[in-house]
Amino acid sequence: MDFCFFIPVIFGCPNKIKQDDDHTPYLCPKCHNPQLVKARSRTWFELCWIPLIPMKKHAIYICGICQFRADQDKL
Ligand SMILES: [Zn+2]
Repeated sequence: MDFCFFIPVIFGCPNKIKQDDDHTPYLCPKCHNPQLVKARSRTWFELCWIPLIPMKKHAIYICGICQFRADQDKL
């Protein structure tokens, strides 16, 4: 007798953004509010919503109002 189990394997590479300890606000170039803060963005390889392997990591600026993002070394 054959039993077939179909287990949905859901994977993805989402970005997790963590704000830096440095809370100095910068002026956002998009919405011109002083809401731009330093953060770290890290891409994870995720399997069934469980982050397994940390991948790319980079330092970014993120705006709390308009969600504008930029790499720290590009500004
Ligand atoms: Zn903004």
